[in-house]
Amino acid sequence: MIALRSQREIAKLRAANLMVAQVLQLVKKSVAPGVTTAALDKIAEDEILKQGARPAFKGYAGFPATLCTSINHEIVHGIPSKKRKLKEGDIISIDVGVCLDGYYGDAALTVPVGIVGKASQHLLKVTEESLHIAIANAVVGEKLYTVSHSVQKHAEANGFSVVRDFVGHGIGTELHEPPQIPNYGKPGTGLTLKAGMVIAIEPMVNMGSYGVRVLDDGWTAVTIDHKRSAHFEHTIAITDDGPKILSQI
Ligand code: MG
Repeated sequence: MIALRSQREIAKLRAANLMVAQVLQLVKKSVAPGVTTAALDKIAEDEILKQGARPAFKGYAGFPATLCTSINHEIVHGIPSKKRKLKEGDIISIDVGVCLDGYYGDAALTVPVGIVGKASQHLLKVTEESLHIAIANAVVGEKLYTVSHSVQKHAEANGFSVVRDFVGHGIGTELHEPPQIPNYGKPGTGLTLKAGMVIAIEPMVNMGSYGVRVLDDGWTAVTIDHKRSAHFEHTIAITDDGPKILSQI
């Protein structure tokens, strides 16, 4: 069952996702060479608790932290650590979820640490563009896999690949709700988007092949060819007035 959210519920989802956007901006400001991923996690957790919400990832299926921090060839679900220091030239995906008043927010971005190479800059640009292309396609009456395909098309046209093993999702009173939102697919197929659907679209784009491996920690997903990967995510509401990004300031 895919929930169709009322105006009142979308307002609550906006509040949770606005907090997510604010936390991401706060964490982003602290990204610098020498900073540990555990320090970024603490900044996020302190802010979420201060604002009266709950970190949604912490404890989810046993995940131990507030943020997922995924560096370079790590795709998603990296675990923050005091032993992991950012280095000049790294790229880091920061993913955060909150639960506020029973409603969830979820978004992610990938940022450079100091100055990064041209190829990494291009990867970040194309991945973020693919998210915004997908959002523009998420209109009432459109088929879901047209949205999925639009991510794939833009990434592949730039020589990159899209991850198959992890997908976006519906979001509302649970962090992960139906439907699943792959970043690839056959245009013109899949369910028809309706007003009131709230979904998290999250392209994961690799410089090399789309093959994925999960490390022994049981969480961190990495590219099998060790090439870099980027990840951007927004939670959006599909409305009669078009897609509304809930997770931006
Ligand atoms: Mg998500």
